[in-house]
Formats: sequence, C-alpha cells, structure tokens
Amino acid sequence: MTVFMACSPQKKSVPLEDGVSKELAEFRKERLREVKYAMSFDIPAQLSESIPASLDLYFELEGNDGDLYLDFSDRSENLLALSVNGDSTDIDHQMEHIRIPSETLVEGANYIHIDFIAGESSLNRNEEYLYTLLVPDRARSLFPCFDQPDIKATYQLTITAPKDWKVMCGAHETARKEMGEALVHEFGETDKMSTYLFSFVAGKFQAVTENPGSFDMELFYRETVEAKVGPSVPEIFRIHQESINFLEDYTAFPFPFQKLDFAAIPIFQYGGMEHVGAIQYKEPNLFLDSTATDNELLGRAKLIAHETTHMWFGDLVTMSWFEDVWLKEVFANFMADKIVNPSFPDINHDLLFLVSHYPAAYGEDRTQGTNPIKQPLENLKYSGTLYGNIIYHKAPIMMRQLEAAMGKQAFQMGVQEYMRTFQYGNATWADLIGILDKGTDVDLEKWSKVWVNQTGRPEITDQIIYDDKGLISSFEISQEAEDGGNHFWPQLFEVALVYDEEVLAFPVEMNEPTVSLEKAIGLPEPKTIIYNSNGFGYGVFPVQGKDLVAIPTLEDDVARVQAYINVYENTLAGKLEPLVTLGMLKTGLATEDEDLIVRNIIGQISHLFWTYLTDEQRDQYQKELEAFLYLRLHDELSPNIKKALFGLYSSLAYTESAREQLFSIWSKEEIISSLRLNEDDFTAMAMKLVLFEHPETAQIIEATREAISNPDDRERFEFLLPAISADESLRDQMAKSFKEAKNREKEAWVSTALDYLNHPLRQEGSIKHLKMYLDLLEEVQRTGDIFFPKSWLNSTIGQYGSEEAYQVLESYLAENPDLKPSLKNKLLQAADDLYRVNRMRN
Ligand SMILES: [Zn+2]
Repeated sequence: MTVFMACSPQKKSVPLEDGVSKELAEFRKERLREVKYAMSFDIPAQLSESIPASLDLYFELEGNDGDLYLDFSDRSENLLALSVNGDSTDIDHQMEHIRIPSETLVEGANYIHIDFIAGESSLNRNEEYLYTLLVPDRARSLFPCFDQPDIKATYQLTITAPKDWKVMCGAHETARKEMGEALVHEFGETDKMSTYLFSFVAGKFQAVTENPGSFDMELFYRETVEAKVGPSVPEIFRIHQESINFLEDYTAFPFPFQKLDFAAIPIFQYGGMEHVGAIQYKEPNLFLDSTATDNELLGRAKLIAHETTHMWFGDLVTMSWFEDVWLKEVFANFMADKIVNPSFPDINHDLLFLVSHYPAAYGEDRTQGTNPIKQPLENLKYSGTLYGNIIYHKAPIMMRQLEAAMGKQAFQMGVQEYMRTFQYGNATWADLIGILDKGTDVDLEKWSKVWVNQTGRPEITDQIIYDDKGLISSFEISQEAEDGGNHFWPQLFEVALVYDEEVLAFPVEMNEPTVSLEKAIGLPEPKTIIYNSNGFGYGVFPVQGKDLVAIPTLEDDVARVQAYINVYENTLAGKLEPLVTLGMLKTGLATEDEDLIVRNIIGQISHLFWTYLTDEQRDQYQKELEAFLYLRLHDELSPNIKKALFGLYSSLAYTESAREQLFSIWSKEEIISSLRLNEDDFTAMAMKLVLFEHPETAQIIEATREAISNPDDRERFEFLLPAISADESLRDQMAKSFKEAKNREKEAWVSTALDYLNHPLRQEGSIKHLKMYLDLLEEVQRTGDIFFPKSWLNSTIGQYGSEEAYQVLESYLAENPDLKPSLKNKLLQAADDLYRVNRMRN
C-alpha cells in the first residue's frame, strides 16, 4: 500500500558545510532584505577577560520557505541565548551556522536577539587597544551575521570601554555615559555596507580632528615621536582631501558616506583597510619624518589614495562575491596612480609601474600552475587562495590596456554609469564590462574572456623581409599563446627601431593575431629592435642575439629595462644561453645608474646564477662575477645602488678568497665608502659567513649574539643557527622538526630556515628531505596562514634544478593524483624553474 502525503509547500534547504557556500549565499540573497545589526560590546579593562556582547538583528524576509542560517564560526559555548520574534528558541549551532527554524520566522519583518561572547580571533586585542579586521570572511568569527558581500546592512553600535579609551566606528558618536569605571559610547546608524567592511577600533589613542575641505575628519594615532607627528598629521588630512576631490570629479558621485575617519594602528596586517567611514592604516606607513625619501612619501600618498578610492570602488559599489575581489583592488591602485603621480614629477612612474608589476606577473603567468585573474570560488572560506601575483600584478597591466583600448574619456564615462547604476549595491565584472561595452567599438566581452578569464601570456614573433637595397620591405608581427592554446590577446605596445643616430618608436595596435608594421617599410635595417619599448604590452617579446650589445646603451629608461626583461624571458624560454645573458646583464650593471633598473638586473642575475647554471658553470662564473662586483663596489655610486650591489656580492662570496673579503667587511677592517650598513645587515652578513663555512664561525656567532640589540632579532638569529650550521646532523634535525605543526608556527622564520637548508650549496645533503617537504604540503595548508604553502614550496622544491629533484617531484605528483587543484597549481608555480632547467639540459 502506498500512502500519499497531503500536498504541503516544499520546504527548501541548503546542504550545510563549514564556511559560507555559494549555495547558502544565493539562498539568503534571494530572501533577505533591509538587514540591520544593532550590537553592544562590553570591553573590559583586563585583556584576560572576555567581551560580553548582544545582537538585535532586524530583517525582512521574502518568502519563508526554509530554515535560515546565521554564520558564527567561534565556539558554540559563546552563544548564550537566542530569541526569534520575541520567543526564546533553542540554540542549534553546527558547522559554523546557527539554525533559525522557519517555524519561528514570518514573511516580512523579523527580529532576532542573541546574547553571546564576542569571538576574538579577528579582534586583535592588545593591552591598550583593539581593532576588528574582518576581511574577507571573518565577520562571522566575531558576531553572528549573514557574512557575504551582497547582503548589505546598517549597523548601530553601543560600545562600553575603559574610561581612558576612545572608540571609532562607521557612524558618528551620539552619546557618552559614565558607568562605574567605564564609558558607554553610543553611535548612530551607519551607512549600508557589506559585513567585511564593518569595523570598530577602541583604545588609548591620540585623537585630532580637522576639516581639510569637505567635512570634519578625525585621526586616531599612537605615534609619540614629535618629529614624525608634526609634519605628518597635516599631510594625512590633506592627501585624504586631495583624493576625495579627484574621485568626486572622476566618478561624478559625491563622497558616498556620512563620514571619513581613520585610525593608525601600530602593528597592522596590511598597509591599510578600507572600512566604511573608519579606515585603518599601518601606523609606520603614515608617520614619516623629514628624512623620508621621495619613494616613501609617494608610498604614503598612494596608500591613502588607494584606501580613499575604495570608498567608491568596493564600499559604494561592492563585488557580489569574492571571486571579483581583484576588481576593487585593481581600481584602487589604478585611481591612486592618477591621484598621486602628478604630485611626484621627479619619479619615472612608467618605469616604476613596469618594474613593480611585470616581473611579478610573469613569474606566475609563465608557469603551468598559473591562474586567471578571475577564479571561481565555491565557498568564502577559500577566499584566501585567490590572492597572489596575478591579482596584484597582472590585473593592473590588464586595466591599463583596457583604458588605452577604449580611450580615457569613454572609460571614465562608463565608470560613472557603473557608479550610478550600482550605488550602495553590488556588481560583478560582467556588469562593468556590459556598461563599458556601450562606449567602445572594441568587443569587450571577447577582450575580457582572454585577459580576465584566461591564463597565460602571448608569445610575440616577427618576420622582417629586406629588399635588395637592404631596406625593410615587409614587417609582420604575430602572436600565439605561449601555452599552445588558441587564444589571442588584443593589445597596444610600441616597437623601437634603434639606429646609430636615432631611435624610431612605432605604435602597434595588435587587434589581429598578425599585424603589419606599415610605417617601418622602406627604412634601413636597424642596429637592434626593442619590442614593447614603452613597457605597455604583455607577453614574451622577441630578441635577437645581436641585440644584446646595444641594450645597455639605450637612453630611455623604460625601453632599457624592458629590453632586459625581454632578454630574461627569452632565456627562461630556452632561446638564449644563461651564460650569455649573464654576461650581458653584468655589462649592464657596469654602467647602469638608475636604481630601479639596477635592482631589476640584480634579481635576474641572482636567479639565473643559482638556478640555471650547472654546478661547474656556477663555480667557474662565480670568480668572474664576484671580482667584478667587488671592484664595482669601490666605484663612486649612490648609497642605494651600492647597497643593492652589496646584497648580490655578499650572497655569492662563497669561495675562500671572497669569504675572506666579506669577513674583513663584516669585522669592519674594510670600510667601503657610501655603503651604509645597519645592525640587520651585519647579522645577515654573519649568517652568510657561517653558511659559507668560514673558519672563524664560532667567533662570528658569538660576536653577532652580543651585537644584536633587539631581543626579537636575537631570538630569530638563534632559531636560524641550525639551518646554516656546517654540521649536517643539526640541519637534518631541524628539517625533521618541521614535521610538527608547532615547530612551523613562526612562518616567516621557517621559510628563511628552509631557504638556508635547501640552499644550492647545501643540496647534496638536503635533497633527502625533499620528499618529506612535499608530503607535508597538504598539512601545511591546513595549519598555516594563506601565504605559507607557497613560501613553503618556494623555499624547498623551488630552490632545486637537479635531475634527482625532478624525479622526486614527478613521483610525488604521480602518487598524489587527487591533490587539490589550487595546491597543485602552487606546486607547479614553485617548481617552474625545475621543469625548465630539466628541459634545457635534456
Ligand atoms: Zn585595497
């Protein structure tokens, strides 16, 4: 017999998992409206005591067809009481969610009250202050909420804190009441914002209020050095105002929120965080004294302009889901450049853009483990895996191309429409492209498909034909995807034809896979051709062996550094011999006087030297290179360049004679003029001497121990000693100790220790641990912070080039076919050189 159930409305449910799944987010987005959080936090004077809190949550429900889930990732015991629409309800907390049964809810207005203990993992509590930092998905660690960027809400806070503390949040303070030893601060209702933008700061701060033009702004800070505070405070206000003026004009949208205050935090995770109405900054980046260099001043101005830009790009219009997080970051940098660069006319901004973004973007995009700018995200708890060089360095290059392809005016008009359309709401990259598309002939959807959704780089080739008089009769430029795929990157760049007397630069509009450079037809054969001479294009550009001689003599800084980059990329691609390239880079160093280019060349030399030369080649070339650097260090050079050259010199002074020279610099027997070395530099030098097994090792260690003045630095030195020891058994012991998660906690130190343990000079003894390091990878991801798995890999497998290491890698990949793709990609990124070197040698 079959029983038919009476027809009842289907109850919808979402399969629960930790974090915030996309499915759960979509379920809530469809149903929730008008969300408001009214919260109180009672901050005690004692750091050891917990923070009692309560939440009154108001929202409208469209369709009550299933249980609702609030996110709360802290312990269940911290949830004290729950009532829904006035009725006390049992607390059902599992998999980081509080279930609100649909029976307790109604269509329309609902009200939930929760008493709880505030979760502390994102509260950054110190003796004298605390601050919330809830990006990307940590609001749910502090209080129960709908933690997803597309459920915007208002917040109304009451914060009780010790009497001598000040409090800042996204709304104005409306009342202050004494209560025993504490003060109760009441705030008005904030503007609408996403959970990751909610914040408060409380503690012992100095506060200063100024009106730099638009309205009163308040600054909290703890810096005490008057030489920094005096000149910095007015600048901090001025740059915020300058940024607001520019952005209001550019976006045609007035400053979108009720206020703009900022707090300088002594130790802060990032440069800054764009909380609505209450930006947080890393204090040392804001407070500079009169010795600050142009670059430091530029850095501060860009940081402030970046965070202020976020008030529009990110806060006013927010990505719908974190997979578009790159978009707000790229806009913030893009606008910061526009706002700030004109105030620093002495800096070559095109050069700075090139060296800051291209090598880093290529470093990931040339590998098999690269990812597109936009990556899918199934659950907010994986947001951390999205961050990397592609977001931070390829996306800005893409955006600059996009603006150039459309034209600045059309681009700006599109941005204005985007602001108007999605104000106080959410939008995706597709929404922006949809709007921009109307203002241009460029097919932006197609354009975006390859630049944003596709991985990798184009490889550019040329075909030049000369007639019988030696004049150019045909000049064709083509591109193919480096990874062999069927993609084409529309882009603009320049090609420079270099003659003895002049350089002729021609724009190339590469909107087809093959284009003809008509303007070059009829010209005589140039001495050399520099592709992408304006540093605007993206890809691997061709280099002829004969070009190498001319590169160091190129006058234009951007063309010169681009030429070095082209040579380097061709070397890694196996088209030029590493030793030939090293020779050319060394020649460049002999005359180069632009600091940024010197640093770029030094990075290239160091990488090729340690990774691409065989042991025999390296030992042979070392003598020549080291002698050259030692001589160059005695030339008349700027302190910055000298410091950079010394870094390279000291890293490869491992032969007996070089080691002695380094020892005499370390022991101050030899002083090199204008080389400014501080305590950290002497510690680093001492560690190199130990690594290179100087006979006076015991004395060097003892003297260094005594010389280090900061106890944290001394602890670090002691931690690293086994990693540089000449005693292989000590090194083995340290390597094995990293199997225990607790020995990996100081991640920055562990990475440095691994760099030393797997140093090319020590690989004969260290390769036996390589398999263990790889086997630990998944665990390292589970227990470590978001950037640690990559640095773990860079410091282990990333240091090797040998056939033996290649075999270890291959068998690890064969044994672990189910390795999570995001992790496998990190491994393929780190092992990129290993693949290349083995391809070159076989
Ligand atoms: Zn940002």
